Amino acid sequence: MTAHSMKQLLIATHNRHKKEEIAHLLANESYDTKDLDDVSGAPATIEDQPTLEGNALKKAREAFAATGMLTLADDTGLEVYYLRLEPGVYSARYAGENATYADNNQKMLAALQGVPSRRRSARFRTVVAIVGKDIERTVEGCVEGHILEAARGTTGFGYDPLFVPKGHTKTYAEMSLEEKNTLSHRAAAFHKAVAVLKSL
Ligand code: IMP
Repeated sequence: MTAHSMKQLLIATHNRHKKEEIAHLLANESYDTKDLDDVSGAPATIEDQPTLEGNALKKAREAFAATGMLTLADDTGLEVYYLRLEPGVYSARYAGENATYADNNQKMLAALQGVPSRRRSARFRTVVAIVGKDIERTVEGCVEGHILEAARGTTGFGYDPLFVPKGHTKTYAEMSLEEKNTLSHRAAAFHKAVAVLKSL
């Protein structure tokens, strides 16, 4: 199939790491995939909703409204049980408005300082919103795991060096992109989103 005959799909993100993961996840699907850096006119969505669902829908609705393209938008949070599911929807700005990934990881380690390993459980949750002419839906992918006492690994992004998925010994940041994509929260959510797209 040529790109011309394939259905266009917009991934509403500028995040380089998400783009890489999602491109790999959708590589065998027959979509001509674009992201926000490929299209003009899509606004920078202000992620001010109180839930992952709300932010994912807002991103997808605004990108669809600006481009008319069938759109997928991902919003993800790390929910730590000891911290009553924080930082959750605030994961990107946990350590402040312009926090780096390193700042956020440092704050997480400080918040869990002295907390024993059995109480360091957490989950990653991704909500993908699907918005198009005849559709508006969300799907979710979730992975349980725990937070280490020190960062390990250099691949991936965000909280990857601190998170070990349940049943595994490596952090996400010690896995290749391919390996993370066999088991991650984002992979689970995008597989569900693709199933929805195929049912349209
Ligand atoms: P966003 O609002 O969905 O872009 O993501 C919020 C924050 O969650 C990001 O800034 C990252 O710190 C973190 N995050 C999102 N996805 C992942 C992931 O797959 N691994 C680790 N951290 C992530």
